[in-house]
Order: sequence, then C-alpha cells, then structure tokens
Amino acid sequence: MRIISYGAAGQVTGSCHMLESEGFRILVDCGMFQGNRELEARNYARFPFKPNDIDVVVLTHGHLDHCGRLPVLVKAGYRGGIITTSATRDVTRLILLDAAKVQYEEYATRRRKARRRGETVQEPLFDEDDVLVTMDRVDGRARNGERVQLNRRISVTFHTAGHVLGSSFLEFNIREGKRSWRVIFSGDLGNRSRHVVPDPEYPRPADWVVLESTYGDRRHRSFQASINELADAINDTFRRGGNVIIPSFALERAQDVLFYLRALREEKRIPLGPIFLDSPLAIRLTNVYRRHPEALDPVLRRMLDQGKDPFFFPGVYLTPTAEESKTINAITGGAIIIAGSGMCTGGRVLHHLRHNIWREESSVILVGFQAKGTLGRALVDGAPKVRIYGEEFVVRARIYTINGFSAHADQAELLDWADATGDARVLLVHGEDKALTALQRKLRDKGREALIAEEGRAYGDKH
Ligand SMILES: [Zn+2]
Repeated sequence: MRIISYGAAGQVTGSCHMLESEGFRILVDCGMFQGNRELEARNYARFPFKPNDIDVVVLTHGHLDHCGRLPVLVKAGYRGGIITTSATRDVTRLILLDAAKVQYEEYATRRRKARRRGETVQEPLFDEDDVLVTMDRVDGRARNGERVQLNRRISVTFHTAGHVLGSSFLEFNIREGKRSWRVIFSGDLGNRSRHVVPDPEYPRPADWVVLESTYGDRRHRSFQASINELADAINDTFRRGGNVIIPSFALERAQDVLFYLRALREEKRIPLGPIFLDSPLAIRLTNVYRRHPEALDPVLRRMLDQGKDPFFFPGVYLTPTAEESKTINAITGGAIIIAGSGMCTGGRVLHHLRHNIWREESSVILVGFQAKGTLGRALVDGAPKVRIYGEEFVVRARIYTINGFSAHADQAELLDWADATGDARVLLVHGEDKALTALQRKLRDKGREALIAEEGRAYGDKH
C-alpha cells in the first residue's frame, strides 16, 4: 500500500492523490491548480502518471480545486469510472460547465488582443463537450455512510464531510494477503457551526489519515457573533439609505447567506426589502441543494418536508439574465445584492461595486476568504481607491469583513477530528506552509506522527 500526492502538497489547490495496492490504482480527486499564472500553467502539464493505468477515480466534492482536471484526465486517456455521491455529481456538472464557459470567455478576449500583436494564446483546458463526456463516466451511486466495493480486496466508505453539498471524506479498507490497512482521506472538512449541510462525521481509528490543513493555524470567530455582525451591518446600511453588496462564492456560501438572511428576516432582525441572488451559477446550484434533501442538515430537510423553501422566500429575487441583472442598477437603497465572484475578481459583483463603492450610504460585506492580489483583498485592507474595468473609484462605501462563515474546519476542529483516528500516521496536505507546520506541531505535541506531504513522494507500508 502506498499513497502519493500529485497536488495540494505544500499548497492548497490541485488536490490529486494516488492510493496504490498490489497494482490497483485509485485516484482521489483530480483538481485544478488555482491562484496565480504559474500555478495555473501546471494545469496544462502532463500528468506524472499514465491516466489509463488508473483503475478508478473517487471524488470527495465538487469544488474546482478537487474536480477541475477530471475532463483533462479523460481527454488524456482515462477510461474508467468516477465514483461519488449523487449530490456531488450534480454539483460537479454545474461547476465544470461553468469553468468551461469562463475559460472560453477569457480565451476569446485574450485571443482578440493577441491577434493584434500577431501572437497566439493557449486554448482552454476543456470545453463543454469534454465536460459532458466526463460526466458520462461519473457514477453517483455512493451514499455517505455506505460502502462501495472496488475489487475483492478494497472497499471505500463515504462519510459526511460537512463542507459543501454532497461532500465526503473517504475510508479505504484494503487487504494485502494477511495484512490489512485502513486509509482515510479527509477531503475538505466542514465547520461545525454552520447549518445548511450536516456536521462532519468523525472517522474511525486508522493506519493512515491524509488530512487537509487549510486553517491549520487559525481559529474561526464565533458563529453567533458573525450573525450579529451581519444583522448590524445590514441595519446600519439601510438607515444610511444605501445598498448592501455581498460578494459570494456560488457554491455553499451563497446558500448559507440566503439561509441566514431568511432566519434574520423571520426573527424581524432585518427590515423587509429585496434580496437579489444575482448569479446564474448560484441560482442553478441552489436548485441542486433543493433537489438533494438527503445531503442537507436535518433542520433544512424538515423545512423542505413541510413545504418551506430554505433559500427562496418572499423578497428573494432571482436575476439569471443580464437584462434582469441590469434592472438592479436603478435601485439606490434598501436592497441586498448577492453576486459573484466571491473575491471580486470578475462577474456581476463588479457592476454592483461600480454603482455603489463610491457611495457612503452603501456597504460591501465580505463573508469569504480574500486571496492576496484580489479586489476583495484590497477592500479588506482598506484601499482608498480601487480600479474596476479600468476606471478608478474612490472607496466611500463601508466595508465589513465577517469571518465566521467559513466552510472549513478550524485548527481546533481539525485536531478534534484527527483525535478520532487513533494513532494513525497523519499526512498533511491542502494547506499553505504556515498552516501545515502549525498543525504538524500541534499533532506532534499530542504524540502523533505527522508528516507534511511532499509532492510525488510515496508514503505507506515501507515508510
Ligand atoms: Zn472544498
């Protein structure tokens, strides 16, 4: 038995791990590298293994940094199945189709400019047809809590990871002659304070655990305090007569925010007024949430059973088309606008920022992680002026940063979860250096054997 990481080793994106046992090869996730040009260039590199040597792919969840290179794998000759939950299958389909569209749009713009200089540009990694061909290989029969037999010696059990809709952590049970192994891949683990997806399950004692470390060095702020901050920010903005802009990721964060706004409105803690979900992808994904009650928190499942919609309630307006979206521009106050992208690097949120960022009555509420170099990060850091579509804007709107809504477990939750794996050896992945080393130190303080995965290096029985 051996485990080799080909992505998310020493960094957060590009999750891709190989689990091998007596010649049987399982690929856990096949994600995109994201964040900067250098990393993105890696998506075009050849795989460091032969795609047609892999026996099966198992997918933990539908975030692009976990599923985004599946179409590339299929194009490169992979002919086997991709096993996951039915909710993850539906999420992945939308996420990959959107990625194909975004890549094509960026490619078309770059090509136009490059032609004027007599240059050529790299083609998109994949198109919509490639996504559809890939989706034909995705088998959504897995259910969290149930085991899937991969061959006579190896099974995988999916367990609720509580990160995004359908997300799983994976427990592999492997027999090699008289020896047996249990290897757990955490995938991305959820934060227990949130309500839309169920809390992560605890794992069983194992021999190895491959553990994500995104927030390995951090504690989240209290969830209740974050809800209170959200209510205060909205009330304050409406008193000033402005709009509230909430830049949001389309998967999970948008649904979380809608659910909390519903609760605040029911408790009469925020006034009535239109709430716009101004993102075609978020609208489609929210429909996937409603179609998969089995993957929701029991409270939301009960609401759906009673005919109540957790996400779409009176006052919520969906604006899938560009024309509908433009009508929002005429509203100067009293509206909450949820739009992508989550870090303000593109998408419709830029139009809403153009109309509101210079107005002292309006607010921007940042509820997600903002990476260095993004417009969202500039706002968090208090930039007095920003550029949007080449035009300079003064920042007069009030900027709120609310940190308690993360979809990832924090350091305490990661340690608590890892405790349940007994004395399993821990292989740390999916984190930046600081997070990886902080989590390693904490685990070693507890007497655990914890290693930071090196890309391409094999760990396992002979380790
Ligand atoms: Zn994720």
